[in-house]
Amino acid sequence: MLLEHLNSKLRAIAAQDLSRFLREAESPTAPHQWVRGADGIARELLMFCSNDYLGLAAHPRIAEALAEGARLYGGGSGASPLVSGHSVAHKRVTDTLADWFSAHIPKARALGFCTGYMANLAVVSALGDGDAEIFSEALNHASLIDGTRLAKARVTRYGHADVAELRALLAASTAKIKLIVTDAVFSMDGDIAPLPQLLALAEEFDAWLIVDDAHGFGVLGQRGRGALEHFDLHSERLIVVGTLGKAAGLAGAFVVAHETITEYLLQAARNYIFSTASPPAIEHALLTSFELIESELGQARRAHLQALQQQLAKGIEALLQRHRGLPWQLAPSETPVRPLIVGGNAEVMQLAARLEREGLRVPGIRPPTVPKGEARLRITLCATHTAADVDRLLAALEAAASDMERAAA
Ligand SMILES: *Cc1c(COP(=O)(O)O)cnc(C)c1O
Repeated sequence: MLLEHLNSKLRAIAAQDLSRFLREAESPTAPHQWVRGADGIARELLMFCSNDYLGLAAHPRIAEALAEGARLYGGGSGASPLVSGHSVAHKRVTDTLADWFSAHIPKARALGFCTGYMANLAVVSALGDGDAEIFSEALNHASLIDGTRLAKARVTRYGHADVAELRALLAASTAKIKLIVTDAVFSMDGDIAPLPQLLALAEEFDAWLIVDDAHGFGVLGQRGRGALEHFDLHSERLIVVGTLGKAAGLAGAFVVAHETITEYLLQAARNYIFSTASPPAIEHALLTSFELIESELGQARRAHLQALQQQLAKGIEALLQRHRGLPWQLAPSETPVRPLIVGGNAEVMQLAARLEREGLRVPGIRPPTVPKGEARLRITLCATHTAADVDRLLAALEAAASDMERAAA
């Protein structure tokens, strides 16, 4: 019965061109990566899909630090943090983060998690108790949405970047505790939330601003500290979640906030308390990652990323001018996430398949991850891409656009 039930659901997913597939990488995360296709054959592909924005995942110093961490601490942490899983390496990581963010959040403390998904569930569900109302941005990441589902708080959604709507909702709220929850950089759109305006509303209406900086940490700000540095924000009302598997090149996540908030999470957040602490070797390597993020290398990589972003945007804008018959749209973005909105599910998958035949991997993103009719190629850039890599993508898109226009004519 269960298998039949699931098989019929799987057929429905396939009928809407929504089936997802795993594929196996055979070499480190990098723009040129060996990937095994559905036919079992490995090919070298030019990848525009990872979130390894600074190209640190395969940096030799990170690999060396991981090996050193393993020699110092061995493998797993053995227990949850409050039992015996917390190590000096974990403490150094959270101390460094607290220090980085103390310029933005008074009395900042950090708490570590194994994944950003866990950190978001923890923050939103633990702070969103029965006395709270959560104001949740429409395009928030799935993990924030799942956090609101676990929370006892009332949940009110506001439109994407709609500061006026949020203001009206806050003004009408009688909740004792008000929590505004938003991605800093929207993961499928690449645009940046209007954080200064959101923070101003938080100050005005005695609310708190939970910012998920998964795609900003390491990338935004002169020293790579993320969205708070980018906008130069200062307030004890800021609660920041950052992930360490994207620009930081490793794994894990953190929450930084006023010490009373992190202390409460330590006491009350179930997914902090009841989950094994991350391997200390990863924490040890994160210290090297942090060094690289703020070093000259990090700064040079952020500058190179910006140049690539401009090259890609200019190239696609020119392409759209040449092919006005196509319904494609370049999403407005100031980050290395640069989606090209194509429209239909089948169309985006055909385009992605065509690019892959030419040796480029750019993932097609479909509903429910994005709204219906807005399926897109989610192009992401890494500092380890070259200008020639971006030119190759632009040429492949140009050829595909010409063929599609000809086929439609
Ligand atoms: C990736 C991502 C997460 C989850 O982080 P993981 O460490 O991968 O679990 C949370 N929020 C956003 C916006 C993300 O893009």
